[in-house]
Amino acid sequence: MSLRQLPARRGIVVELGRNALSSSDLTAKWKPTRCRNSGEQVATAAHIAARLSVSIRVGVEGACWVHVHTRAGRGPAMTASTYPVWGWGGPDQEPDPAVLEALAPVAQALLGFDLQAPERPAPLRPLPVPRQAAPALLAAIASQEPLDRARHGLGRAYGDLIRGVRGRIDHPPDLVLRPRAEAEVAAVLDWCGQAQVAVVPFGGGTSVVGGVEPAVGDRFVGVAALDLGALAGVAEVDPVSRAARVLAGTTGPELEAALGHHGLTLRFFPQSFERSTVGGWLATRAAGHFATGATHVDDLVEAVRLITPAGVWASRRLPASGAGPSPDRLALGSEGTLGVITEAWLRVRPRPTSRTGTVVAFGSFSAGAEAVRAIVQAGLAPATCRLVDATEATLTGTLASGEAALLVGFEAAGRPPPDAELAAAVALAQDAGGRLVPEQAGAAAADAWRGSFRRAPYLREQLVLLGVLVETFETAVTWDRLEELVDQVTEATRAALAQVCGAGTVTCRLTHAYPDGAAPYFTVLAPARRGSELCQWAEVKAAAAEAVLAAGGTITHHHAVGREHRPWYERQRPGPFGLALAAAKAAVDPAGVLNPGVLLPA
Ligand SMILES: Cc1cc2nc3c(=O)[nH]c(=O)nc-3n(C[C@H](O)[C@H](O)[C@H](O)COP(=O)(O)OP(=O)(O)OC[C@H]3O[C@@H](n4cnc5c(N)ncnc54)[C@H](O)[C@@H]3O)c2cc1C
Repeated sequence: MSLRQLPARRGIVVELGRNALSSSDLTAKWKPTRCRNSGEQVATAAHIAARLSVSIRVGVEGACWVHVHTRAGRGPAMTASTYPVWGWGGPDQEPDPAVLEALAPVAQALLGFDLQAPERPAPLRPLPVPRQAAPALLAAIASQEPLDRARHGLGRAYGDLIRGVRGRIDHPPDLVLRPRAEAEVAAVLDWCGQAQVAVVPFGGGTSVVGGVEPAVGDRFVGVAALDLGALAGVAEVDPVSRAARVLAGTTGPELEAALGHHGLTLRFFPQSFERSTVGGWLATRAAGHFATGATHVDDLVEAVRLITPAGVWASRRLPASGAGPSPDRLALGSEGTLGVITEAWLRVRPRPTSRTGTVVAFGSFSAGAEAVRAIVQAGLAPATCRLVDATEATLTGTLASGEAALLVGFEAAGRPPPDAELAAAVALAQDAGGRLVPEQAGAAAADAWRGSFRRAPYLREQLVLLGVLVETFETAVTWDRLEELVDQVTEATRAALAQVCGAGTVTCRLTHAYPDGAAPYFTVLAPARRGSELCQWAEVKAAAAEAVLAAGGTITHHHAVGREHRPWYERQRPGPFGLALAAAKAAVDPAGVLNPGVLLPA
């Protein structure tokens, strides 16, 4: 592989080597004319070229040219045995060595630091012998198969990926239980309480804060992962009230497919939509794609049903209620510590039939933030309102001009596109110094952003295998402190990266906006030192979290608390509230077996 800088050019060129079978084979699967400067497209081309035994030459828009010589033929799968444990995709989406080799120089040129040779994931290290077997009553729903235990020993944070790739599962559960009905959930909780076996509810396992890792301390004789995957589906739809009863283990795609038969949608799309579940969303107070209005899943919950060791906790279906503290609000965000969410009534809506949107460029992030504030404070409620800083706009291929990008979009159901709202938002953005990106370029920029957002979990694991420390963290803060927070957190994180990794990039975007504040979301990309990644990230994360709290932000806007954020959550929450939470847990979970160590000390 070789890399050399050449003048900036538009587009990507693929040059076939001498032993090419046919250029149409390549272009039939990969359409260079529609491609922009994405590492994945380059990687896709390299992958196809490898299959065709050709070498390719790839040019990257506006940045550099890269020569990629792929190996003839396709190498053996790198991670066949452990990919399901740590990977994001299905079995056929496992990172391929040829793809990684092709991606490396492109990513290196964009990131500005050295990448490493692709890592071959290690086989799974032997797991400790299970300390507990399921009692006869639960034998039919129990598994102690090593890969199954390993999969339920990790979430999807950077550290989880690292440990998965190394075949190292620090805290595997002793067994995995998959209840098929609420009665079986209750039976699991009964057995766990009596036997002092900790129980960790598990939805899609996409937690990035250690929420599903069974690190429960040594007070227990064993630990069971309670996988809700068999409790899935839309059980009932009330089209009159526009609500649906959904079982907790339903994944995003399953939910949308089922609601689609009724012309309805939850319109809730977290970036982990493909893998995460309704129960997980409620348990973590997840945030979806709506940038304004109903940002968190909380706003979409009409009623919720949990099984607790003390009995069933089911709220009444109501559009609103002023009857004391809300049972729903206490259940939401309880992260498996108070009970197991088995189902919920969720507020659904007709599918949008029209959309309109555009991109506005800004000379600075703070000018873009002023525009976002003006838009939400004017009472406009765009479905999309993402402000992406200049570095992230470049890395994602959204804008190559060195400007920050504001992606703003409105949608409507059963009425014409909300063009008037869009025009009002654009006028406010222009008043704040924004430059409206011309229509065609704006559509391409929005496409590039969307594509990069969807591909992010896949690209992340590729970068991890190339030795990149890649992780995100997020917060929310009031408008009066936003600029200061973004500056201070970026600076503290950069300084920590320089000290710990020697280099690195920190990018920021606003993911959600409110009349009184916004949610900044940071991405960290740095050279990792193989073998030291967990310590490296722990240091950087601690510096970032300290800066977030010092600048008046929350330790999390939507990634939850889990085990990772608990030290900062304990400092953020009011003391008496901590006492009330502990008392609530003691009341419904007297044996203390439900997800010990999450939200509260184990
Ligand atoms: C690539 C990526 C992108 C992400 N994007 C977003 C995003 O856009 N928005 C966002 O909010 N989050 C995001 N996350 C974080 C994560 O996806 C969310 O926290 C999600 O809500 C977790 O759902 P899950 O089904 O995977 O839950 P899990 O990870 O399985 O569990 C999360 C927590 O909830 C508990 N739990 C799960 N199910 C139940 C249940 N039925 N009853 C009681 N407790 C339960 C678990 O014990 C654990 O503490 C992202 C994560 C990744 C890896």
